[in-house]
Amino acid sequence: MEQKANVHIIATGGTIAGRADSTAATVSYKAGELTVGQLIASVPGLDKLANLSGEQLCNIDSKDMQETIWLQLAERVEAAAERKDVDGIVITHGTDTLEETAYFLQLTVKTDKPIVLTGAMRPATAISADGPMNIWQSVQVAADPSATGRGVLVVMNGQINGTETVTKVNVNALEAFQSPGRGPMGVIVDGKIFWQSQGIAGVLTANKLKFTIKNLTQLPKVRIIYGYVGGDDGLFVKAALQDGARGLVYAACGNGSVPEKLTDLLKETAASGVPVVIATRCGGGIVVLSEIMTVTNGFIASGLLNPQKAKILLQLALTQTNNIKEIQRLF
Ligand code: ASP
Repeated sequence: MEQKANVHIIATGGTIAGRADSTAATVSYKAGELTVGQLIASVPGLDKLANLSGEQLCNIDSKDMQETIWLQLAERVEAAAERKDVDGIVITHGTDTLEETAYFLQLTVKTDKPIVLTGAMRPATAISADGPMNIWQSVQVAADPSATGRGVLVVMNGQINGTETVTKVNVNALEAFQSPGRGPMGVIVDGKIFWQSQGIAGVLTANKLKFTIKNLTQLPKVRIIYGYVGGDDGLFVKAALQDGARGLVYAACGNGSVPEKLTDLLKETAASGVPVVIATRCGGGIVVLSEIMTVTNGFIASGLLNPQKAKILLQLALTQTNNIKEIQRLF
């Protein structure tokens, strides 16, 4: 008989561990109630898939996730990955900020072993809760050698998505996560994993772009400014700078389209040594700098990273350098 893999589960809370009074409730519930032991016990036969161990890092709604918890989580994941008796790691997490935590781990945890994040859209108490199947499929991916070296993965609703591209696109549907314009790296059907692509993560950054966070107690402050009609005329940019922001991300309405009323201020900001990343609120495509928002003016294009992920890369880049050219290179 084939030897079972060892999978370590780190629980952080979320709807997957949520409890409601009514079995029909999918919105009115309290996230982060069940413990890691209860989550494991809720999946019939999970122990046949892998030898399991678990730890509870926190038990929160992921809207309350904090960067200080990320630092602890990355340390715990790396410690687990270093263990000879751990082949893969699953992290259960609320869906609201799951993609951010996944990307932070992608950039900080140095290992080839599979790391999988999962969550649920229905609380554990709901009829047809999606958590147990998501845990089952996540453990399956984490236990499978074919997931090695593909970077941090998000497994939900039968799909495997890569970290750079995955985003929460729906607040109600079970298919809440997608990689817009790219599709999933793989799917899981009938207990079998079918890889469709290596994924951007696998090709570009998995095990290449990594930041050391060992001695950090916090991350540099970076703020996101959101573009919209009637949007910021400088108030929010100035407030962010006064508050000590070391970098800004501008979520433009389209490809790098910063309104004229903000262009000069953002140029001054970049010229003063505070990097400004231009991202987009569009949810798809690759941001490329226009002739106005040029690299020589100190701007940085987010590429395929959405604003919340561009913020994380900028924060980690700032732990290493203040040199805008160097940060442009990292992006
Ligand atoms: N608010 C919840 C959370 O992010 C939503 C979820 O898990 O689906 O923890």
